[in-house]
Amino acid sequence: MSISKNLEVIKNEIRNIALECGRDDSNVKLLAVSKTKPIEMLLEAYKAGQRLFGENKVQEGEIKVPLMPDDAEFHMIGHLQSNKVGKACKYFDCIQSVDSLKVVRKINNKCFELDKIMDVYLDINISGEDSKTGFPNDSSIIDIVKEIIQLKNVNLKGLMAIGPNTNDKDRIKKSFIDLKVLMDRINSELGINLKELSIGMSSDFKEAIESGSTMVRVGSSIFGLRS
Ligand SMILES: *Cc1c(COP(=O)(O)O)cnc(C)c1O
Repeated sequence: MSISKNLEVIKNEIRNIALECGRDDSNVKLLAVSKTKPIEMLLEAYKAGQRLFGENKVQEGEIKVPLMPDDAEFHMIGHLQSNKVGKACKYFDCIQSVDSLKVVRKINNKCFELDKIMDVYLDINISGEDSKTGFPNDSSIIDIVKEIIQLKNVNLKGLMAIGPNTNDKDRIKKSFIDLKVLMDRINSELGINLKELSIGMSSDFKEAIESGSTMVRVGSSIFGLRS
């Protein structure tokens, strides 16, 4: 199937799932995860109306971003090494994978130099799996958020997570709900209003939308399997 057809199918599924759980599908954005895919495929998605793209490597963003129309928006979704922060700030519109204070302080400093305000999400390790990056899902996150919201050149939008590596839909859903509960807790303890939950990939975006996802990150169902 073509990329435009795949996009249409996914957007329809998002709409139907949202409707079924009483949500407005305009509150569930679709991030097209284009990592490893050639620029021609991104342009095809762009032509079909897609504007939000996700990449997990700074080097790939550095190549692709300048080749795309200006109104394509790129989100960094992979673990960001501290020595790549400068380039990430230059090429990306949003960094969803903030997983340490060190990195977010560096993003803030770099964006101050670039006269830019970077949207960021905090990567939370909701599954607790050792293989995953992210802040632990515990009360230590409160002080971390308290510091981040003081930073002038980053704009904290919400939380991002990857579901547990299992086929057990109930476990997946429970971990997504844990993330929603964490965001509600951060908001009430700090009197702030984070709104965005970046959860859900090709295999589990249904459970994510049912749990309050505001952005699903879909790769293989749009662009095909990655080799
Ligand atoms: C690759 C990736 C996705 C998309 O995964 P698919 O299973 O291809 O939909 C989503 N989020 C992150 C962080 C990824 O690295």
